[in-house]
Amino acid sequence: MFLKSLSLRGFKSFADRTVLEFEPGVTVIVGPNGSGKSNIVDAFTWVLGSHSPKSLRGGSMSDVIFAGSGIAAEGNGRNGAEGGQRSGRPALGRASAEITIDNSRGALPIEFTEVTIGRAMFATGETSYTINDVECRLLDVQELLSDTGLGRESHTIVGQGQLETVLNARPEDRRAFIEEAAGI
Ligand code: ATP
Repeated sequence: MFLKSLSLRGFKSFADRTVLEFEPGVTVIVGPNGSGKSNIVDAFTWVLGSHSPKSLRGGSMSDVIFAGSGIAAEGNGRNGAEGGQRSGRPALGRASAEITIDNSRGALPIEFTEVTIGRAMFATGETSYTINDVECRLLDVQELLSDTGLGRESHTIVGQGQLETVLNARPEDRRAFIEEAAGI
């Protein structure tokens, strides 16, 4: 399955609409510390239905919404990144992310050669999911991906901290990871 693109708007440090096109051959995203690389990974887990603020490195689910930056964000406790387009931006009330998967080989059980899965969240905590712009339930997203191994509980997405946990785990814990990945 080929992941074609990721589109973000109001998600974490991506206040403006940002589209990442993963042309064939793109295998890595680089950038200085704190530039938002992990936020990109968080966006994938989030679109796939993550309900855990901890796995998204936040205190509450609505922490994924752009919280403002620079002068305009003073007092909200999250004005980490400086300069650039984010300086002095007020907080937003909505976060959204979309992933587009190439389905020309029919890996997903849906009659489209391209499938876009989206999630949006409002500051009130209200959240919605879409498949090719049609509103749906999280269950529909999960069912669509169920045979692919891609999903919020699988190990297709391994974060920085998670890798460290695996490497430092006791043999019993490591066994649990392997069993989970193997679907036992
Ligand atoms: P590292 O190399 O340290 O892992 P990184 O490039 O992966 O860094 P991230 O951790 O993805 O960077 O991004 C952190 C940046 O995102 C920080 O500047 C933080 O202030 C900003 N950030 C996170 N959540 C929000 C939010 N809701 N609103 C605005 N900015 C946010």
